[in-house]
Amino acid sequence: MQTSISRLKNAKRIVIKVGTSTLTYSTGRIHLRRIELLARTLSDLCHEGREIVLVTSGAVGVGMSKIGLSEKPKTTREKQATSAIGQSELMSIYGKLFSEYGCDVAQILLTKDVIENEQRKQNAITTFNTLLEWGIVPIVNENDAISSEEIEFGDNDTLSAMVATLINADLLIILSDIDGLYSADPHKSEDARLIDEIDEVTDELFKIAGSAGTNRGTGGMHTKLIAAKKATEAGINMVITNGQKPSVIYDILEGKQTGTLFKGQIKTTN
Ligand code: GLU
Repeated sequence: MQTSISRLKNAKRIVIKVGTSTLTYSTGRIHLRRIELLARTLSDLCHEGREIVLVTSGAVGVGMSKIGLSEKPKTTREKQATSAIGQSELMSIYGKLFSEYGCDVAQILLTKDVIENEQRKQNAITTFNTLLEWGIVPIVNENDAISSEEIEFGDNDTLSAMVATLINADLLIILSDIDGLYSADPHKSEDARLIDEIDEVTDELFKIAGSAGTNRGTGGMHTKLIAAKKATEAGINMVITNGQKPSVIYDILEGKQTGTLFKGQIKTTN
């Protein structure tokens, strides 16, 4: 029986999710330095022989910054149009930075019906597998430009867990603006302490997690716990950690205590 830490060290297929608040400054503009470090770290892991999938938010945020909006668009049509502007900008930044480190990327935009329709689901799995076999980093986002309530994931925490499950990943890492899951709201309670490991995502955890996200992102700890539940039930280990320094991903893979580890429920067989 492998320990959770050695399972992380050996993780080959890894999904990394990064949120808007990690990708942008509080000014709303893109955090180039951080994205650059993220691209370097992920390219390096790819060179090491790991299979990397990046689930990225930021389409709406980057689109807002591009056309000079200081507040999130309120109507669906404006949100969709803004995401279409930001998504291409985001991909061009990723494409440029990853290629500087010798790594190619591909874009996959998903809606929830892809998971629900068997044929589309199989197509998506085949595309992911082919790209990974070719050593390319698939960069995934929700297809915000066309998604409406019936076919939307709504948040990229859930999307990242779906993707990890779909491709039978060994590990899901959620890079957030918080260090992990705390025993109470760290903004309100001085006694709040970071929880190192979670064996099971219980209703009790949802109660302590609260729901608020930041201005720029859509998720909060609530959506991360939903993701943790989905991922761990599918046997996938998941870590929530602070994405301020993307090199934290190395720490996780070296088995250092970082953020909160949610242990996969059953042994993954790849
Ligand atoms: N898909 C949205 C975007 O790219 C983000 C959703 C989320 O942050 O959870 O802007």
